[in-house]
Amino acid sequence: MRFANDVVIVTGGAQGIGLAISTAFLGEGARVVVADIDEAAGQEALAYLKTISPQVTYVHTDVAKEEEVRSLVDFTLKNFDRIDVLINNAGIGDNRSLFDRPMEAWDRVMAVNLRGSYMMVKYAGQALIESGHGAIISLASTRALMSEADTEPYSASKGGILALTHSLAVSLGPAVRVNAISPGWIEVGDYQKAAKKVSPQHRPEDLSQHPVGRVGTPEDIANACLFLASKEAGFITGQNVVIDGGMTIKMIYEP
Ligand code: NAD
Repeated sequence: MRFANDVVIVTGGAQGIGLAISTAFLGEGARVVVADIDEAAGQEALAYLKTISPQVTYVHTDVAKEEEVRSLVDFTLKNFDRIDVLINNAGIGDNRSLFDRPMEAWDRVMAVNLRGSYMMVKYAGQALIESGHGAIISLASTRALMSEADTEPYSASKGGILALTHSLAVSLGPAVRVNAISPGWIEVGDYQKAAKKVSPQHRPEDLSQHPVGRVGTPEDIANACLFLASKEAGFITGQNVVIDGGMTIKMIYEP
């Protein structure tokens, strides 16, 4: 029970990697606030997570909206009195060509991924300082470092998260440690709400482009969050931890 009674906010915590992070912190004794924009996913996640621990709450939140971020933090402090860990996990993309992508789509990706992460820290930061062992972990992506075509707002927002991470680490230290995780290919198909759940299928070449021989699981990222938020990681701040089974260190030449 490494996080007994600590209060942890997980944005986008109702599905995918965020659901695994919520599960992991609950399993370690934390009180977890799942903040997600998808009400159906939030209610499904709440029912599942309560089978692990009753110490879980769902708060409907759009992290791109300042008043919703403020009321999420107010709710958390009113009910639980403290915030020890913030996981900025909520994220979206837009894979249209830049010639077809309306500027509203660029703005929305930036507002959720980058502005939302910043606003969460703006409003939760003081409580994280007062925690005495505050930790922030933001989900970036290997796409902050390399790209496929048609991913500009997503890649740029994730690159922004890396810069935001070292900037916040300096501003909030020594009270709060701030780190980023850059996942590679994490299979989240079976971590969606019932209406969106799919059984993952991977081709041999999908697996073999990873030196570890497989794609990632949401637990691979959740385990790293537990470590980065723990006192064992007390000398780690301002960093980007790439967790991709080695995909980005392997050269691939066409046959
Ligand atoms: P997902 O789509 O499975 O889950 C994202 C969750 O965030 C959903 O529950 C969704 O409802 C919620 N969400 C979306 N917009 C929101 C908003 N405005 N406010 C609050 N909640 C919102 O995604 P995932 O694959 O689990 O990704 C989680 C994070 O990890 C994202 O930041 C993503 O960019 C990053 N990431 C994922 C992968 C991957 O391979 N899955 C790789 C690199 C980075």
